[in-house]
This record gives sequence, structure tokens and C-alpha cells, in this order.
Amino acid sequence: MTHQTTCCYCGVGCGIVVRQEPNGRLTVEGDKQHPSNRGMLCSKGMNLHYTVMDQSDRLLYPQMRLNRSMPMQRVSWDAALERTAAVFKTFIQKYGPDSVAFYVSGQCLTEEYYLVNKLIKGFIGSNNIDTNSRLCMSSAVVGYKLSLGEDSVPVCYDDIEEADVFYVQGANPAWCHPILWRRIEAHKAANPHVKIICIDPRRTDTARSADLHLPIRPGTDIVLNNAIGRLLIEKGFIDNEFICNHADGFEAYREQVMQRTLVEAADLCGVDPDDIEQAAYWIGRSKGFLSLWTMGLNQSVVGVNKNLALINLHLITGRIGKPGNGPFSLTGQPNAMGGRETGGLANVLPAHRDVTNAVHRAEVEAFWQGPVRIAAKPGLTATEMFDALADGQLKAIWIINTNPMVSMPNANAVEKALKNARYVVVQDVSNRADTVPFADVVLPAAAWLEKEGTMTNAERRIAYLPSVIDAPGEALPDAEIIWRFAQKMGFGDSFNYANTAEVYQEYTQLTAGTNIDVTGVSYELLKRKRTVQWPFPANSEPLDVNTDNNVPIGTKRLFTDHRFYTPNERAQIHAVPDGNASEPTDDDFPLVLTTGRIRDQWHTMTKTGRVAKLNQHSPQPFLQIHPDDARTHGIRDGQLVVVRGRRGEVRVKAKITDDVRSGLCFLPMHWGKILNSNLNRANNLTNSLVDPRSKEPDFKFTAVTVLPY
Ligand code: SF4
Repeated sequence: MTHQTTCCYCGVGCGIVVRQEPNGRLTVEGDKQHPSNRGMLCSKGMNLHYTVMDQSDRLLYPQMRLNRSMPMQRVSWDAALERTAAVFKTFIQKYGPDSVAFYVSGQCLTEEYYLVNKLIKGFIGSNNIDTNSRLCMSSAVVGYKLSLGEDSVPVCYDDIEEADVFYVQGANPAWCHPILWRRIEAHKAANPHVKIICIDPRRTDTARSADLHLPIRPGTDIVLNNAIGRLLIEKGFIDNEFICNHADGFEAYREQVMQRTLVEAADLCGVDPDDIEQAAYWIGRSKGFLSLWTMGLNQSVVGVNKNLALINLHLITGRIGKPGNGPFSLTGQPNAMGGRETGGLANVLPAHRDVTNAVHRAEVEAFWQGPVRIAAKPGLTATEMFDALADGQLKAIWIINTNPMVSMPNANAVEKALKNARYVVVQDVSNRADTVPFADVVLPAAAWLEKEGTMTNAERRIAYLPSVIDAPGEALPDAEIIWRFAQKMGFGDSFNYANTAEVYQEYTQLTAGTNIDVTGVSYELLKRKRTVQWPFPANSEPLDVNTDNNVPIGTKRLFTDHRFYTPNERAQIHAVPDGNASEPTDDDFPLVLTTGRIRDQWHTMTKTGRVAKLNQHSPQPFLQIHPDDARTHGIRDGQLVVVRGRRGEVRVKAKITDDVRSGLCFLPMHWGKILNSNLNRANNLTNSLVDPRSKEPDFKFTAVTVLPY
């Protein structure tokens, strides 16, 4: 028996065919008919079935304890949810609705995101829901909103084959979005004139394949992009017609970028001015200019400005809304996009509405009906939630499918915050989640292939994921856990669902008339057509959606008419200052640490860490350090070292390499607790600084020193 589904790791959203043998054994292969991956899978996707078949770490039944000194006891679903509802009601009555919070995940399906939002924002009356997507995409969200009027990725994967210049900044798609990268490589192999420019202080596999690598100093991305902007203006590569008719803000932008000469900019970035000129020339002469970025821009204390500085290059050259052209933020998680669409951040409501907008609140309140009261104040964001737990302002947190003890910055502070919390609910698939020992209640969730729902990938492509096998023990789909809890809270009339199809249908109705209208999408359509790219309003598609074929349907590109989602329909070019506000280095902590992913691991390794084949690539954490810095700090290759920062330390083996520039070192972010110690956890070192607008943490810039152990 075969089933078509979607990979649950990264935002590429590859189609997968799952085969179920009569003996229950599962195999996976790439779905040749899926428009995103065309049959290809990366190492993580190819080994996905092992994570399902190995159930040794699964949480199997609800558990509860009356205080933290007691052991966990197996309880019924009713007992776990009734007690949690009683605790939540008590806190809400005594301290107000903002005393409770949900911290969810880009792994959650759209329906799950929607339900948690509806519950807390609409019925509990607090906007305290945030997601680990806050840690990876929120700077891009704000960047798109400020420049294009809404959080809208304008391009599609088919733009890869239409582009002739790829500008990859702060991203390593060769490892982190491998299937997109293979499409880029194949396109370049067939079209040798295609240029790849990589901007990264590390010589990654992406940088190795590039025609031009600019290993800039950490934190100087805006300096570089403003310098390229200046060159594009000076060399006459800008699109005056586009600027005149479709964009505002150009004069202020020109004034800003003219403040620094090319030589000054190159000096600040630590690269050759000729290389900056070369990049500008290739961009200026290109027919298709596609920029790709991820955490190197987003995870920054100036992440929004970094996004704007890059998007500006598209707006001044008019390279948007045309095949092969546009800014393309690559999402890290499989359903970070779906979460954003349903309002899964503390400051937004479904369909990209805003909690601070009274009209938007009224629209959603009227739709949800019942005792709905949406607060006007944005809720606590990811880092704010743990700060609020630490100072006692937040009493209860419900953590769904994410592992903040490893993934949040300043992880030691997160650990203290969880210890201080009055009530912690952990809803997860795996007992490997580092939050489990801190929980008062543990709820077992169904995993990939064990529940149905939808996800949206990085190109706005919605896919349906079927339930293929039974969940083990008493594990339940996340959506069902939430609607059962809502019923226990007394909101049964509004959470009386028979299945997730009903939840999805309700969500789509809330998008009617918005820029992300998906009223034409249903489970039934998705099962027939495989995927749909939003927007896809009801009755708007001229294609015959009733035929059973794999012709992609929906909207490939946005802004093809150059009418943007701003009030005056003009894009906004922003003059952004090029300063950085990261933690300063000094004599005690002279090196900059950046964290990131490695090829075969996924986030905190609760899944990929169990697959022997994937562990072979890089079995242990390591610190990349430049030979000059190693010499200065007395470090030998392979030696155990202590990486020490202002908040904690990490012990790993040193890897001396000039793949990092001098002054920079790199630590993978995946490892958490090993041998009952957290000394491998990169986020022992990172700080809680966030971008003031996106509230995304500054993971890529931490002041450290390195000592022999
Ligand atoms: Fe899965 Fe991403 Fe690999 Fe595709 S590229 S198989 S979505 S991890």
C-alpha cells in the first residue's frame, strides 16, 4: 500500500511516497510527481521511516504528578486534561489570562496551530502563544511586512530555473535545504553562465560551490548590501520606471547608501572591494536575480534591518514579481509558514491579521463567536515567556512539540525558568525532549504518519498529510488534544470537532477576502490535486480542479502586477542604518561565536539523533576555530576545549580550519543533554538579545573565549 505525504523536517516540503508492506514495515522514496522535489530526497528525508519504526523513545500514555518531588504517575486522558483545565482556570481567575501561555512549534500542523490560537487568543483572552518559528523566521516576517505590506513570500521554486544570479546570504542551503540546492546545482550545470554569490563568514559547502564567496565579518551584512545598492545606483542598474510607479522611499535610501564609500564598506566587511563590485555587476546585468537567505540574516539583533537591506536590492532594480526574480526567505521548519498563516505568533491573528488592529480583532471575534475576547496587547514572545516564568509573572506554560531547553538562547536561564514555573505541560512525541523532567503533566502526541493535517512549505505550497498508521499506546493527534482540553475548559460549543477536516474548513473560511485567501482549498481537493499554492480563493481557479492529475494549481508568484499589499499598493524601500548592536567582544571574550546546523541532523536531534546512518556524518559536536585563533589560544586540533562566554560554557573538541574566518568560531546547535550533562549545549553560551521589532534572538553573534580543557 502506498501513501503520498510530505517530509516533516525542513521548509522545502518535499513530497514523499510511503510504502507499507504487509508485515507493517515502512519504506520511503521521493515523490516524482511532487512539484517541489521532483522525486529527490536528502539524507534526512530518505531515513525518515526509521524515526517512525523505532518507537523506543515514544511517550505512550498521559502522566501527571501533584508536585515536582513526586514521580510521574500514569493517568487517563480525562484526569490529565481535567486537572490541567482546573489549574489553568485557577490561575486565570486569580492572576488574569496572561498568567498562562502556550509555546508551540513549526513542526505543528496548520490545524493544530489554528486551534491553539483560537483557544488562547479567542477564548482564554490572552495572546500568550508563540512558536519556535520566532527563533528562525520572525525577522523575515517583519521585513516582508514593512517592505511589501504583508508577510508574503513572492516567489516559487520554479523561479530557480528562471534565475541567472543566486545571491545566497547567511544561509547554507547545500546542507540545510539540500533539495533546493540540488535544483540550483542542476540549473547551473545546464547553464554555465549562471552565477552563485555566497555571503557567509564561513566557507560552507554552499560557499565552496559559489562563483564568488564573500566571507564578511559577522554583523556586516547591511554594510555589504548597502554598498551593493550604492553601486547599482552609480552604475545605472536600477529600474527607474519601477521605482517611480511602484515604490516609495528611494531618495532616503540613496542618501543612506551614499554615506559610505565602497572602500570603507569593504574595509568594514573585511572583503575585497573588487568582489563587492563583481557581485553588484552580476546582479545588475542579470535577467533573473534570486536572493536566498535564512538564519544568518534573521537571527540577529538587527535581523529586520538585514532583511530590509536585502529586499531593497530587489526593489531598486525592480527584480520582483517576474519569473526568476525576487527575495526568497527559506523557512527552516516544515510548517513555519502555516503557523504564520494561522496567526501562530504572539502579535498576529489568522490570515495575517494583527492583534493590535481593532478591525482585525472584531472580524475574528465575530467569526469565532461565543465568549470571545481578543486582547489588543501582543502576547509574550518566545524569549519573553521564559523571562516571565523566571520572574513569576507567568505561572503556567504548555509546550507543544518543541525542545526549548536546547533550542532557546541562554539555555541555562530557560532551565531555571522552567524550574520556577508553577505548572508545566509537555505535549510531545518523545521522552527525549529535555523538558520532560520539568513537567507536571506529560501528554503523548501522535507523530508524522499517525495524524492527518496540512502544512505550507517555503513557496506557499499547502500539502495534505494523511494518517497512515496508528499512534502507539494512548498517543493522540495534537489537534484532538487541544480540542479535548478546550472542552474541559468549558468551551465545548466552539471546539466540538469530529475531525481535523472540520478544523481546516473553519480556518479557510477565516481567510475569505484576505491576501492569503484559501477558501478554495479543502482536504478533498488536496487529496486529489496533491498541493495548492496560496492564495486560492473559492471559484477563482480557471483550471479544472475536478480532474485527477498532478498539474500544480494555485498562485505561483505574487506581485506580478506590481501592486503590493501596502495601503497605497506601493512597495516601501527602507533606508536602513548599517550598525550592529550585538554583544560586544572584549579582552576576556575576544572571539565571535556563531551557531548553526550540520548536514544530517535536525534541530535538537530528538528524531535524527536516533538514526545510525545520520549520526555517522558527524557523531560528536565540535568547535570550528581558525588556525590563527587556535595558535593565540594555545589550542591543538582535536583537543578538548572549553568555550566560555558570559552566561556559561561548553566543552567540545576543537576542529582547526580556515573554513571560518579569523575571529570567528562555529558550534553546531543540535546537541543537548549527553551523558546527563548539558556541557555540549551550544545555547549555554548564546544571549537573550533580540531584534526590537521581530523579537528574534541574536544566535549568530556571541562573545566567547576558548581555552584548552
Ligand atoms: Fe525533507 Fe528538507 Fe530534505 Fe526535503 S530537503 S527531504 S523537506 S529535510
